[in-house]
Amino acid sequence: MNRIAAANPLFYQTSAETPMVAKAEGIYIWDEDGRKYIDGCSGAIICNIGHGDPGVLAAINEQAKSAFFTYRTQFENRPAVKLAQKLVDLSTPGLDRVFYVSGGSEAVESAIKLCRSYFCSKGEHGRHLIISRTPSYHGSTLGALALTAYAPLEIPYRPMLKASPKIPAPYCYRCHYQLTYPQCNLACAKALETAINEQGPENVAAFIAEPIGGASTGALVPPEDYFAVIRDICNRYGILLILDEVMTGFGRTGRLFAYEHWNLRPDIIALSKGMASGYYPLGAVMAGNELVESVLAGGGFPHGHTYAGNPMACAVGLAVLNRIVDDQLAENAAETGRQLLSGLRQLAGHYPIIGEVRGRGLLTALEFVADRESRAPFANSDQIFNLVTREAFSRGLIIYPRKSINGLAGDHVLIAPPLIISAAQVDEMLERLNETLAAVTRL
Ligand code: PMP
Repeated sequence: MNRIAAANPLFYQTSAETPMVAKAEGIYIWDEDGRKYIDGCSGAIICNIGHGDPGVLAAINEQAKSAFFTYRTQFENRPAVKLAQKLVDLSTPGLDRVFYVSGGSEAVESAIKLCRSYFCSKGEHGRHLIISRTPSYHGSTLGALALTAYAPLEIPYRPMLKASPKIPAPYCYRCHYQLTYPQCNLACAKALETAINEQGPENVAAFIAEPIGGASTGALVPPEDYFAVIRDICNRYGILLILDEVMTGFGRTGRLFAYEHWNLRPDIIALSKGMASGYYPLGAVMAGNELVESVLAGGGFPHGHTYAGNPMACAVGLAVLNRIVDDQLAENAAETGRQLLSGLRQLAGHYPIIGEVRGRGLLTALEFVADRESRAPFANSDQIFNLVTREAFSRGLIIYPRKSINGLAGDHVLIAPPLIISAAQVDEMLERLNETLAAVTRL
């Protein structure tokens, strides 16, 4: 086995036991040994419409007959224009323009640079800082990583990262201020104002947040009035609000975009993952006309990635978006998400290692604790997140593990199946999770 692993030319962090995929269809994946798994986390919370979608496969075949790739400065292409128009039509007023990229980190990088270009175009050259939150995840490239607060991914790279101001995320279960909502008076949101004043408002360009925390915090839903306070602070100091909807977009949380939960009007959104649901690399940044026109008049946006907005990527994006909208997958996520959350809460009643169940729509998480009373996390050496994930995998259920980050967030697993899941399949998933937790607590 070791010799095979050593000879493996890939160097992702996979182990010798990682199975080879044979096929994937709907919410299921089969390996080469014929074992069947429920994709309980949509890969990395990306396959929103599930696997092997016939409409998308047909769109890929159709597009391949005309043009697979053309470069955006040489040719415009119909799928790119149609998809952009549809995104604009479906999003909140003020998100009028689309800039394509090929992934989530690229979307965040583009959002950062777009803000900077905007303020330069207005002559506000001091504004360059982007305030973000702890914990958070915004991507793996150096710019996006600088905004990320998730120690396991950052530590070796810190000397290479531009220091960027952070405020506490609305993580009520482990409140940074040790306060309780609503008596806390949303201290974590108000921290934005303090951070802006510390840095000098003339130096601050934007605030970025995941509307519902994803990879670093595990389906962290903010208090209902959190973003109203954030929006007000951004307005008063003339700073832009960037929402990183890379994980939450395209129906994942029960609405097409998560900002809809609070009637929030972001200035910029970053999109990817569910946008092409794994069928092709695709992402985008959306922003308002005033912002974009100012940037274009001020010398343009000297930024771009080679694959951006190519005909195949956009044809896939269009087919995926049609599937989500026409088949009301966001609505299905809201409904099956309620069923899933209630099932997870029942499991929490049986297994004291579950400290908190949280989430919205089909972005849900279980946070584990060594002691429910004190909320003490498991010791690092216990690797509870890996143990639960491995036990689930061996029972044919794939979930997404996240490690505790030095007391900032506990160990958790994300449970986020494709949005096409049925009520019966949610029950099937819950049953496997029940068996998993029974096994883990017996160990
Ligand atoms: N932002 C968020 C909120 C994410 O969840 C992710 C990926 N997990 C990214 C950005 C980065 O996306 P990618 O891995 O496609 O670069």
